Amino acid sequence: MNQGRLTQAGGIALLLLLPSLPTCGAPAGRMTYAEAKARIPDKPLPVFWIGDDKDLPQRFEHLKRGQMTIVAVTPGGRPIHLIAYGEKEAVAHTANFNSAIGAQEPAAYMDKATRKRPVILFIGPVHGHEVEGLTGLVNLIHIMESDEDLLGRKQEKLRQLGEQCRLLIVPAGNPDGTARFEPRMLHGMESDDLRFWGQGTWKDDTFCDWPACKRQHPMVGGNVGFLGCYFNNAGVNPMHDEFFAPMGPEAPAFLKIAREEGPDLVVSLHSHESKPALLRPAYLPAEVQQDIQSLARECYALMGKRGLPHDEPFKVSLEGGKHPESFNLTSALYHVSGAGSFTFECPHGIRTACQVTPTQILDIQLTLYEAMLQHEINKKK
Ligand SMILES: [Zn+2]
Repeated sequence: MNQGRLTQAGGIALLLLLPSLPTCGAPAGRMTYAEAKARIPDKPLPVFWIGDDKDLPQRFEHLKRGQMTIVAVTPGGRPIHLIAYGEKEAVAHTANFNSAIGAQEPAAYMDKATRKRPVILFIGPVHGHEVEGLTGLVNLIHIMESDEDLLGRKQEKLRQLGEQCRLLIVPAGNPDGTARFEPRMLHGMESDDLRFWGQGTWKDDTFCDWPACKRQHPMVGGNVGFLGCYFNNAGVNPMHDEFFAPMGPEAPAFLKIAREEGPDLVVSLHSHESKPALLRPAYLPAEVQQDIQSLARECYALMGKRGLPHDEPFKVSLEGGKHPESFNLTSALYHVSGAGSFTFECPHGIRTACQVTPTQILDIQLTLYEAMLQHEINKKK
């Protein structure tokens, strides 16, 4: 989940509803680890679902077409993988991005217009329990390798679009957090399960909750109970790292990829309880926000055609108000690379919120990717 949702009327309504939801066996506002474990449904995961980091190294070792590199190692000793498809095109590069903007010559950073193929960067869940994005990206990798998703469905169109781009895929943005996520999927579970595994608890078993969990960062010390999957093993939430003096290895690794590759488009994949939503990217110029707004319209039209739920496009706006948006990872990715950068929120399929099937969650992810690729390919025409 990300801060921008609070600005949406639906999100506010949902948040107001949450305290009255049934808590099934745990007192409202608190849950012990034993209670949380006991609430995990005893049912097999869908075959296409990826809810764990454990098998990822093995999965990425033998790719036929993709190139795998390890871009960072987490405090828990887990590798962060980058999988690339499509050659990197050499372009003139004489300045870093903000200096090039200062020179009023963005091309001095990277002459992106001379590239034949768009470059698109996907950052998988930096909140470890938001594994809908991990599932989507591992399926995308499988499609680029084999033409099929992990359900065995042909996905020729997506693969053909992918072949016209350079794709940079970081499937798991916070593998420490994902390793801690024992349910492996939140589909069919309750809001309180999301709270426990997502933001974690204080020592007295009360929920850290959202957005109050951001009040303490890094999330370390004697008052921490269960460390939520928002955080790596050192208590750092990569969405809110200190980008000018980093606390964790994840966010700097993503920013380095962006700096060196100069992507045209970047998404940070998240999940929440509501409908699929492309959030307004904060601290980005109006023209870049407008471009992401156009992408949102295209993406929602495609989702509508496929019978998938979706939000309404956001409004382009200036920063300000009593509670201005934070300058988060999505903002930082633009400011080092000039990429159209945004956060995507996918429904978890929480029982009392936006109802989707696991297959629809996969389709929501793949539809987003298709819209992103088509959006950037159209600009090259
Ligand atoms: Zn999130």
